[in-house]
Amino acid sequence: MNLPEVSYPRRKTRAVRVGNVYIGGDHPIVVQSMITEETHNVPAAVAQIIAMHKAGAEIVRVTTPNLAEAKCLAEIKAELKRRYQDVPLVADVHHQGTDIAVEVAKYVDKVRINPGLFVFRKRVQRTEEYSQSEIEEELEAIEKALLPVIRACKERGVAMRIGVNHGSLSERLMVMYGDTPEGMVESALEYIRICERHDFRDIVVSLKASRVQVMVQANRLMVRRMAEEGMDYPLHLGVTEAGDGQYARIKSTAGIATLLAEGIGDTIRVSLAEDPINELPVCYEILQALGLRRTKTEFIACPSCGRTKFDLPTVLAQVKAATGHLAGLNIAVMGCIVNGPGEMADADYGYVGKAGGKISLYRGREEVKSGIPQEKGVEELIALIKADGRWVDPP
Ligand code: SF4
Repeated sequence: MNLPEVSYPRRKTRAVRVGNVYIGGDHPIVVQSMITEETHNVPAAVAQIIAMHKAGAEIVRVTTPNLAEAKCLAEIKAELKRRYQDVPLVADVHHQGTDIAVEVAKYVDKVRINPGLFVFRKRVQRTEEYSQSEIEEELEAIEKALLPVIRACKERGVAMRIGVNHGSLSERLMVMYGDTPEGMVESALEYIRICERHDFRDIVVSLKASRVQVMVQANRLMVRRMAEEGMDYPLHLGVTEAGDGQYARIKSTAGIATLLAEGIGDTIRVSLAEDPINELPVCYEILQALGLRRTKTEFIACPSCGRTKFDLPTVLAQVKAATGHLAGLNIAVMGCIVNGPGEMADADYGYVGKAGGKISLYRGREEVKSGIPQEKGVEELIALIKADGRWVDPP
């Protein structure tokens, strides 16, 4: 059924290339994740990257805590190309990262740096204000540390993520702004301005926090500040350290989906304290629920009530198992006709309970088959989809 598309006006951003994937512009929202294997264990890292790429991670991040592990990225890249295919890789660089970032930029497609740790200074719990000369001195030190990385990225067409974390703001920004979204935004802007001064604009920005409100406010503020400064860099969204299980998924969705629905965000990562492969279905389901990317059948189902004359959860599970791969279709399973046709307006096909334990099948709003015994319902639904030529075999 062709319904008018309801879309969110998306913030206009530049497209930044990361290997064979683009973040921003009119490109679909990119799904990414990070491996948990140690980088120096090349066979294990390669195996996990392949598994995650196959499961839908379009960009995969790998940690590079030291120079030796940065060099391992050369092997990992080569091994991926030999055994599988080129996968867009991001190297995660934190403390005093200049040498590591310069080395790893030879092999990967994007380098992530954390402004709070990149020019690492020991925290002294300082409380007195920074003088103008101290600020300038620190910004000069940052520029000195960042310039070789900018050059290395420019040389190979490698992108950079300026990835600010709420939990690791620099001492200076903590004193100047406190532990706030403003401090996070300023931290990113300082780095962006340096990159721009050296004519480097292949930048993606992230502002992550484990508290949803902080993450949402920081990204909204970043969008405003970038607009004021004429910047159009794409944003990477995520709620960091979200934990595990259902609540981690809800927290991540609350932060990421809120912003996506405002047109903010060009790539997402759901951070779970679980096997990272579990992050990927959550990302794709967020995007599908918002109508931003479709990777499976869209189901509409009523919660059932006293009017329902069949075991709706069981039937829904059967319908999902049989038709979940039909990414182009919307299928409704409704307990009765009371809300059926109205709620099913979006559906291509409907499975609706009727009196006497029988069911009817609908194509759009039209009832095309009635009086079907319940145990034959799923089979008849498949037959109808096949007769309409809209069936494809599961992969
Ligand atoms: Fe109940 Fe019918 Fe509404 Fe389902 S559609 S919840 S069965 S009234």
